[in-house]
Amino acid sequence: MREGEDVKISNMRFDIITIFPGFFAGIFEHGIVRRAQAERLVTIETNDLRGFTHDRHRTVDDRPFGGGEGMVLKPEPLAEALASLGIGPKEARRDDAKTRVVLLSAQGQPFTQKLARELANLDRVALICGRYEGVDERINQLYCDLELSIGDYVLSGGELAAAVVIDATMRLIPGVLGNEASGEFESFGVPDAEIGTDAQGVPRSQHGAGGLLDYPHYTRPAEFAGLRVPDMLINGDHRQIRRWRREQQLRKTLANRPDLLEHATLSAEDRKLLEAIRQEKL
Ligand code: SAM
Repeated sequence: MREGEDVKISNMRFDIITIFPGFFAGIFEHGIVRRAQAERLVTIETNDLRGFTHDRHRTVDDRPFGGGEGMVLKPEPLAEALASLGIGPKEARRDDAKTRVVLLSAQGQPFTQKLARELANLDRVALICGRYEGVDERINQLYCDLELSIGDYVLSGGELAAAVVIDATMRLIPGVLGNEASGEFESFGVPDAEIGTDAQGVPRSQHGAGGLLDYPHYTRPAEFAGLRVPDMLINGDHRQIRRWRREQQLRKTLANRPDLLEHATLSAEDRKLLEAIRQEKL
C-alpha cells in the first residue's frame, strides 16, 4: 500500500433479535470476537423483542392455530423490531444486496463454512432467534432471506445458533484473523490457485484445505503420557511435513466425514494416497 492511501476498514454489523438479550452478555467478550469489535471490524447489537410489545405483560407469544403443544412467537413484535432496525420486508429490500435477515430454525438449511463465507461478504446480518415452538411462519415468508439450522438436533432457542453463525462468519471478515489466509488453512478451507503438487507429488503449499478436514496439530512436550509427536514433524523437512499433513487430512476426512471427499478438490497424488489408505482398511 502506498503512503497516504486510505485503508478500507469494513465494519460488519450483526443485529440479534431475541427474548433473552442477557444470554449474549459475555459470549462475545472473549478472544477474536472481542478484538474484532474493539477494532471496529464487527458490531454486534442485541435487541429485546419484548421492547416491541404494547401490552402490560409484554406478550411475545400466543397459542398455535390448529391446536397442539407449545406457543409460537407472534409476528407483530418481530416485524416492529426489524422496522426499528430499518429492515423492511424482502420485497422492499430487493436493491439492498448487502443485508440479509436470517431465521435460526431446526427446519433450516444446514449452516456451513461456505455459507459463513457468503455472509462474511455482507454489510449487515439480522438474526431472529426463535423460542417455544418457533416463529410465526409469515415472518419467515415476508422477511427472512435464509432459514439456517446449525445441526440436526433441536435447541431450546435460536440464541446459541445465532452465536454460532456470528462466530463462524465474523472470523472470515478480512482483517479479523491475524493472518488473512488462516481461514483457508482450516477444515473446509477453500482450495486456492496454489493447490497442486510438484513433480515429486508433494503439495506445493499448505493453502486451501480444499474442502477437507484439517490435519492434527501438536505442541510441546514432544512426549506426553507415553505418546510421541510424529517424528516427521520434528525431524522432517518442510516438503515432507506438507506431504504428511496432506495425508493426515485425507485420513481424517475419510474416517470422520467421508461425505466431504465427494466435493473436495483433490490432486492426482491425493487420489493415489486416498486409494492406498482405503486399501489399508480392507
Ligand atoms: N418446533 C421446532 C421444530 O421442531 O423444528 C423446534 C423449536 S425449538 C424448541 C425453538 C427455537 O430454537 C427455534 O425456533 C429455533 O430458533 C431454535 N433452534 C432449535 N434448533 C435449532 C437448530 N438446530 N438450528 C438453529 N436453530 C434452532
